[in-house]
Amino acid sequence: MHGLMQHAELTLDRLLTHAARWHGNTQIASRSADGVTTHTDYATVTRRAHQVSNALRAEGTNKDDRVGTMGWNGYQHFEAWYGTIGIGAICHTLNPRLLNDQIAYLVNHAEDRILLVDKACRDILEEILPQCPSVEHIIFFDEVSPTPITGSDLPVTGYEAWIADHSEVSQWGGFDERQAAGLCYTSGTTGNPKGVLYAHRSNYLHAMMTLGPDALNLSARDTILLAVPMYHANAWGVVYSAPMVGAKLVLPGQQLDGASLYNLMESEGVTYSAGVPTIWQMLLTHLRETGKSFSTLQRVTVGGAACPESIIREFRDVHGVDVIQGWGMTETSPLATVSIPNRRISTLGQDEQLAYKLKQGRPLAGIDLKLTDDEGRRLPHDGCTPGRLMIKGATIANQYYGHDTDALDEEGFFDTGDIATLDNDGYMQITDRAKDVIKSGGEWISSVDVENIAMGHPAADICAVIGIPHPKWDERPLLLVKLHKGQSASADDMLAFLKGKIATWWMPDRVEFIDDMPTGPTGKIDKKKLREQFGGVTFI
Ligand code: ADP
Repeated sequence: MHGLMQHAELTLDRLLTHAARWHGNTQIASRSADGVTTHTDYATVTRRAHQVSNALRAEGTNKDDRVGTMGWNGYQHFEAWYGTIGIGAICHTLNPRLLNDQIAYLVNHAEDRILLVDKACRDILEEILPQCPSVEHIIFFDEVSPTPITGSDLPVTGYEAWIADHSEVSQWGGFDERQAAGLCYTSGTTGNPKGVLYAHRSNYLHAMMTLGPDALNLSARDTILLAVPMYHANAWGVVYSAPMVGAKLVLPGQQLDGASLYNLMESEGVTYSAGVPTIWQMLLTHLRETGKSFSTLQRVTVGGAACPESIIREFRDVHGVDVIQGWGMTETSPLATVSIPNRRISTLGQDEQLAYKLKQGRPLAGIDLKLTDDEGRRLPHDGCTPGRLMIKGATIANQYYGHDTDALDEEGFFDTGDIATLDNDGYMQITDRAKDVIKSGGEWISSVDVENIAMGHPAADICAVIGIPHPKWDERPLLLVKLHKGQSASADDMLAFLKGKIATWWMPDRVEFIDDMPTGPTGKIDKKKLREQFGGVTFI
């Protein structure tokens, strides 16, 4: 027997419609490439998103068609996003930080017909368009009368002119909640990027799962600065969760350096933000150098890579800001675990609680986790046995776009490619990515653990640990350190700092100092590049 309740398909257009109706004058602040901040609101962006839908329909865009976007976080990007998914078309977010060949591969793989882009991406287009036959029209978000793209005869139009003559009313929704909404490719650190095709239902559920106090604790009282780009897994779902609660949104554009972020946080009264550790590292360095602090910021979510203890401590002790670590991946929508104290842990002292903040946390409602060995046998959740982290739930991918087999084991779990432990309280801790783990003498060394501890050295700005081939042990750890400006430390200082904090056989065999830490397309440390750069180092 079915329940006797009204039925509503969980389609994402409802979230913006809700925000427009019940939080219509809540602001969206948006900073352009020229550094100018404009203010709009949910009611206005919703009307304009309907204009986008009508402009897309006028171009012959139908349900299932992929519409590519390549741009930073800005209000027009946000409008175009909802205007696309509202009519059942698929918003394919392209990361402009990928290599041009990869971007061309993605446009072709997705068969994007229309690309909506920032002018900052013009050079990329010049290079890729000759290789992308599916593209029919380029719309520039931030150019009024764009000139043609060198080497291409495709029509180019300014966004404002493109939507101007279209009605502010269009038909949204009315399709199955399993309709695809977004297409986001993993960054392809191994092989070609793989496409994750989100459904309206999966993103709707994900947004709901992330709202509560045991997750990101978002509300209508928040002013949210999206330091994580919209092309990085739906800005961790905040593109949906912010309108769901009617929070004020602050979209920072391309400038994500410490000074730019800080100034925007202060001028817009930001209470909450989310981003990868390197973003917070830059922000904290700026505050240290200028002696400034926050007047409104209360909490930040750190995810995408392990959060070093030094970030948590500095936010907490110097600025009174709570750091919440979250874990996830493009394939998991992305947020899947969040490190918030449960009843027992909330009664512990600050330092004991910190040990749990360093873990990646407990699964959100509806997510199941297990650990397995390489043969797929379950391993114990004892807090010390590392295994392959497997995940299951309604917000987890089951197949990549364009692949014809599913990516699950017999029990329906997806292999995350991460190595983790799970403890008795249900806290998951990533010890490494399977491809970054250092295999020494048949045992695993967690590069993440060694990095986190090394980052606690007062002179260290960013640290990375990679495995280097070793004739006897297979691999041994090499510690790479970027020092704070004007600070010094020797290799012996770094090793002395680690001594006693990690097992002796985990001690790096060598320490190198570098001027720049390479980061990949989503702002995380690029260990592949480091391995290439230091491939010649030997330990003999
Ligand atoms: P990619 O970087 O491959 O494009 P994602 O952005 O989806 O893809 O990254 C997902 C990966 O990032 C996870 O599998 C995990 O290795 C890492 N990651 C995400 N959050 C954390 C975290 N809080 N701690 C450690 N690693 C994390």
